[in-house]
Amino acid sequence: MTTTRFAPSPTGFIHVGNLRTALFNYMIARKNGGEFILRLDDTDSNRSTTEYADAIKEDLTWLGLDWDRVEKQSHRLERYKQAAQELRDIGRFYECFETPVELDLKRKKQLNMGKPPVYDRSALALTDEQKIKLKSERESHWRFQLDQERIVWVDGILGDLSIDAGSVSDPVLIRGDGQFLYTMASVCDDIDFGITNVVRGSDHVTNTATQIQIIEAMGASVPNFAHHSLLTGPQGEPLSKRLGTLSLRDLRANGLEPMAILSHMARLGSSEPIELFNSLDELIENFDITIFGAQPTKFDVTDLFPLTKKYVAGLDLSTMSDALIDLGIPSEIAPSFWEMARENVNTRADIAQWWEICRDGVTPLIDVEDIEFIEISKSLLPSHPWDETTWKVWTALVKDTTGRKGKGLFMPLRKALTAMEHGPDMAKLLPLLQKIKI
Ligand code: GLU
Repeated sequence: MTTTRFAPSPTGFIHVGNLRTALFNYMIARKNGGEFILRLDDTDSNRSTTEYADAIKEDLTWLGLDWDRVEKQSHRLERYKQAAQELRDIGRFYECFETPVELDLKRKKQLNMGKPPVYDRSALALTDEQKIKLKSERESHWRFQLDQERIVWVDGILGDLSIDAGSVSDPVLIRGDGQFLYTMASVCDDIDFGITNVVRGSDHVTNTATQIQIIEAMGASVPNFAHHSLLTGPQGEPLSKRLGTLSLRDLRANGLEPMAILSHMARLGSSEPIELFNSLDELIENFDITIFGAQPTKFDVTDLFPLTKKYVAGLDLSTMSDALIDLGIPSEIAPSFWEMARENVNTRADIAQWWEICRDGVTPLIDVEDIEFIEISKSLLPSHPWDETTWKVWTALVKDTTGRKGKGLFMPLRKALTAMEHGPDMAKLLPLLQKIKI
């Protein structure tokens, strides 16, 4: 069975940067009839909040990415303790006493000598006596002892990968204050929850190498890893500075549609063109992780607007009817109203404006040279009931009477009735106008 997880830390809102991680893991699980776990990486109790955890759930729900269960790392500390003991028992876990300042100094020295800043394992040489003495004086942290060999795996996106364990520091799994670090918790969870596929950002590639060794040391099987590229801004600049304004909440507040966002994210950085999918099922059916590339991927939020417009225009009446009724649109005109409005809105929020125009009329926009023309046109308006032929009948009459034609005929009428130069097909709009102020 396929099991995936999305593992955000509840220390902030979901943004476009981690949305791809959520989406890919979700789609792998759903495509294979598997399980999708929402894992809250909340071992850092100073920064994790339930408000953010709730916000993450709310945002995923808004997108339609439903999860099968939630797991919280803060509830699993006993298990991490036990795993740490297992690693001690097999001799792959060692206690270190360097302070952050000492470690920093070591790194600087190595860099000065042109060497990679890899932890020198001096703690392994400590005698029991030295350890006892150090223990009484300072905090200790614990490192996993890597096997210094090449760590290889076939990445679902990046292909064959290999990292020399000798070029990586033995990872710290327990901090001086006793807090279990991400690597320890994540490895335990992936093993215990039977995670079969892990998709995450390519900033995790080195973590993956060390995690593979820990998973193997714990006698478990290694999941399939895939690392997607990181997003940049439109000019290739790092996205991190802009993420504050690229949370899902911001996108939602701007009227962007979940399907537009998901469709974009399901194709961005792939060899396939971006296209609008109309449902999650369609998206899942067309998902293929192998089409994604390793290059950093440019993201431009403005690309989401045309997709949103297209999505909204494609919504059928039955999907929209509740929203239309909620706006106060009488059910007998809702079908023709939606026919008129659907092509003329950028977001759902714009629908209300069209209803206002229909219900209340607009202050007419009439150029001085058109004042008389509009007066005449008004006197020629056919009597009710109006339908989609009324506009043609009326403008033919106006044309005959005034001798105007083309733009000179239609534009002043459009401006007088909508206060705009562009907009819907007037034949569709006219019968919907409940009030005309000319
Ligand atoms: N909490 C980690 C992060 O957001 C999870 C990484 C992972 O997928 O293992 O970076």
